[in-house]
Amino acid sequence: MAELNLVLLGPPGSGKGTQGERLNEDLRLPYYATGDILRGAVRDETELGRTAKEYMDRGDLVPDEVIVGVIADRIDSSEALDGFILDGFPRTTPQAEALDAKLSELGRGVTAVLLIDVSDDEVVRRLGGRRTCEENGHVFHVEFEPPKQEGVCDIDGSPLIIRDDDKPDVIRKRLATYHEKTEPLVAYYEAKGVLERVDGAREPGEVTDELRGILAAVGS
Ligand SMILES: [Zn+2]
Repeated sequence: MAELNLVLLGPPGSGKGTQGERLNEDLRLPYYATGDILRGAVRDETELGRTAKEYMDRGDLVPDEVIVGVIADRIDSSEALDGFILDGFPRTTPQAEALDAKLSELGRGVTAVLLIDVSDDEVVRRLGGRRTCEENGHVFHVEFEPPKQEGVCDIDGSPLIIRDDDKPDVIRKRLATYHEKTEPLVAYYEAKGVLERVDGAREPGEVTDELRGILAAVGS
């Protein structure tokens, strides 16, 4: 199989994480979700985590130089020789340029950018309804996956909270940041001929099927 160096693109709440995990299982390629990497660093209180936390708490992007180093180490590792799936990186044009520079240094390039397109209204509906278990991070949704008892985790009985990231003013800020900083990447990758656009306002299974079809075509 040809090398598959993939980037998942889309607003917060587009379902990129779900799709990334499915592709990870399908393709057996390492899945690098920047949000998970940073949240892990925050939890472990590493130096990266302390720096990142200040920005994330405000709904701002973590500065390019911090995140570029983290990702460059991973795509240059032996597990990523056949490819990788990036989620949450690149998020800005300078990050995309840094990624291109790193890949070209390795004699590689981005194979495909999968844009999962979702409207702002749908993002607010999806993220604003999310409730997270305080103890173990189990996720529910007031509309799509309500807990049996309001405000209580079905699995372990812990209180359900609204994560800072899912609060209405932070969602609006994240969307504004996406439109300003990340959306220009659509044109950037379109110009390189690697952009694949998928309608994300459908059932996750339908989105996965379409992505599989696209990857079967680009990977062969
Ligand atoms: Zn729980």
